[in-house]
Amino acid sequence: MIDYCYRGVPSILSVVEDIKVRVDIVDLVSEYVALEKSGANFRSKCPFHNERTPSFFVFPSRQTWRCFGACATGGDIFSFLMKHQNFDFPQVLTFLSKKVGIEMPSKKNKQNNEDIFKINEESIRFYSKVLMSDRGKATRNYLLNRGISTDTMADFCLGFSLSDGMSLKTYLESLGFKEEQMILGGMVTQSNDGPLKDLFRGRVMVPIFDPDGRAVGFGGRVLDDFVKPKYMNTRRGLVFDKGKILFGFHLAKDHIKEKGAVIVEGYMDAIVAHQAGFRNVVASMGTALTVHQVSLLNGITTDVILALDPDEAGQEATLRSLESSWRILQRNTVNQMPTSTTYRRSSAPNIRVASLPYGKDPDKIILENPNAWEDILSNSVPVLDFLFTALSSKLDLSTSHGKAAVAAPLLRLVSSIPEPFEQDRQFRRVSELLEVSEDTLKASMEGYKRPAERRMNFHRKEMVIEATFDRLERDPLEEYCLVLLIQNPKLDQFASNLRSEHFERMENREAYGIWVNNSNGATLNGETNDHFAYLMTKVLPIMNMKEKEQALGDSLLRLEERRLRRIKEEEALRLDSMTYDQIIEHENEILKVNGEIKTLFRARSNS
Ligand SMILES: [Zn+2]
Repeated sequence: MIDYCYRGVPSILSVVEDIKVRVDIVDLVSEYVALEKSGANFRSKCPFHNERTPSFFVFPSRQTWRCFGACATGGDIFSFLMKHQNFDFPQVLTFLSKKVGIEMPSKKNKQNNEDIFKINEESIRFYSKVLMSDRGKATRNYLLNRGISTDTMADFCLGFSLSDGMSLKTYLESLGFKEEQMILGGMVTQSNDGPLKDLFRGRVMVPIFDPDGRAVGFGGRVLDDFVKPKYMNTRRGLVFDKGKILFGFHLAKDHIKEKGAVIVEGYMDAIVAHQAGFRNVVASMGTALTVHQVSLLNGITTDVILALDPDEAGQEATLRSLESSWRILQRNTVNQMPTSTTYRRSSAPNIRVASLPYGKDPDKIILENPNAWEDILSNSVPVLDFLFTALSSKLDLSTSHGKAAVAAPLLRLVSSIPEPFEQDRQFRRVSELLEVSEDTLKASMEGYKRPAERRMNFHRKEMVIEATFDRLERDPLEEYCLVLLIQNPKLDQFASNLRSEHFERMENREAYGIWVNNSNGATLNGETNDHFAYLMTKVLPIMNMKEKEQALGDSLLRLEERRLRRIKEEEALRLDSMTYDQIIEHENEILKVNGEIKTLFRARSNS
């Protein structure tokens, strides 16, 4: 019935990310090295080589370290510990996860997850059988009355949970599942020392799938609107977290790639939309979109329409979630996606808001008249315009105070745009909307800063939040390069200059290490390294050997360019805190990096 695919996302990644958010590099390095403050940064004599003047720097804003002296190397918390304590990567992970109290993914957890997927899969089978049986007749009629066809019921694996409170448990027991497993999966519940009962009783059952199409949980809706709660979901647990899933995404993914995404609130809305042929619709299952939900779209599309209930449109939660969605999708524009041998820059994000008519949910609109739904979508407005209208309806725009109050959140959004041209374009739009000149706007808003200036002044907390968004994404360029190398042993000879420092993401650095040592990925405590396995099996466009060489050459140049840029950026941070004499003293090092960058650009323009 369902194509289950157990190709898991590397679980080790989430541990790496958790650790990075919780461990501050200054705190960590201070435990081993006596750091002194130097402007916004910290420095000391390098712990890795002998020197008289300090050239070892720690940059809190970037959470990195670098030795500008003889070592000429740098990295993050992980590489610091590996170098300083002579740890290998698994040792660093164990050490740091103990330090911050994070549980390492173990075989046991993985097994538990697999068990829950199986329980959910069997529960779907059971619930849908009940729905199609005599006992499901009333529910079938209820769904048909709501306009959901029998085919759609099957497409979305809808079902019905009997109200006796024990049918599912009995069924799962007959298949050999134990009570602990059912409790872990959240399908049974216990009240006041009574017997275990099915969690869902007398509800329409809507299975919820993750992006890979694995069943992670359920939504249950009552047939009678007077019964409370009207909606109930699987509790958050090992595999289910409502805030990390977009309902229908596994079915909509390919359509979203083509047409962009439309986000509605309820799963019934998404189901009816798909039935009517609007297959790029997903549901947030809550009023405000979460960071994780938006991140699912990142790399797939930059065109997003949010269908909002007019009651919610002006509310704080909606505004906040629009703001964060905008920021996350912005990040996509600077991400480069590999397409065969070339890299394209994706277009600027286009987030629009469609206002629904009062008191009408999308499913009703679509069932009444699909054209009306299309009209609503085509009348959607850009998010800046929407925010402007929503904010200005509450404030008096004839006063400068009112204008400033509306401008502040809009400019906050604009200042988060990494592309200077797009930023200017949106800035002009704000000045048009507010009917003030760009100069006045710039002068009146001290918060408006170019991305480069902004980065320097980042508060640590914002930094961590931003960095978290960054880390939710993969790094396509690093992965592309590794996939080429890992899958094509003949390319080894062209990568002699590649070093672990070329990889910024820890999982890629680790994969690079495995590749260099020619091992088979069996490093992490004897378990296969998931990420390495993922890279080994990732499918690339078909290329002949010559094209592969070219693609590898391109990506190596880009990685080197990034490496040098990182050095330059850290160097700029260091220069900020240096005296003129010190700068003269270090002139040679600085010129050396500049020379390397020039050589690189010459190589690129020749290739
Ligand atoms: Zn050094």
